[in-house]
Amino acid sequence: MQITLRLVALRLAAIGTAAGLLTMGAGAANAAPAAAPSEATWLSDVTAVTDQASAYLQQRLSTPGGKTAIVLDIDNTSLETHYHPFTMPAVPPTLALVELAKSKGASVFFVTDRFEVLRTPTKSSLTGVGYPVDGLSMRPNFNTDPVQVNKTNARAAIEAQGYTIVANIGNNTTDLDGGHAERTFKLPDYDGALS
Ligand SMILES: [Mg+2]
Repeated sequence: MQITLRLVALRLAAIGTAAGLLTMGAGAANAAPAAAPSEATWLSDVTAVTDQASAYLQQRLSTPGGKTAIVLDIDNTSLETHYHPFTMPAVPPTLALVELAKSKGASVFFVTDRFEVLRTPTKSSLTGVGYPVDGLSMRPNFNTDPVQVNKTNARAAIEAQGYTIVANIGNNTTDLDGGHAERTFKLPDYDGALS
């Protein structure tokens, strides 16, 4: 299964659809950016941001009512793709943030640049480490639009379902730019070192 998906993915990449089809390999595929720090430093830097997001969500979701949602990027935001590419555990402070939001009634949507062909393993990766998944938006197969365009369109589609996106959390600016969220929270990417 895994091998088949990888072959399909490589085939798509070979015909030039996009770099970063397998986002877990994006670090190696892209021209080498700045180096990532130690995992401990990264998690500390992530927690500095999720602490702010947590305080905000405690306040924002304190009054029940309406269809609220949070949106998250997956790689190096929700899963430790860079530091543990084969096991991809949850990013602990992000999982804690999601659990907080969920406990206060918000729905949890993931928006990723991974291609649709990877939907099944991607959803399994998320649920397998404890994330609730109310929605998962992925790049359509063979689509070559800019990341930010796809991700912005995905958030607009979530809003079109009647949700208010109270927070959007990601580690790249392309996860966050384009509006359609009350607040954005930028996790570190160290100048592109983390996809
Ligand atoms: Mg990412």
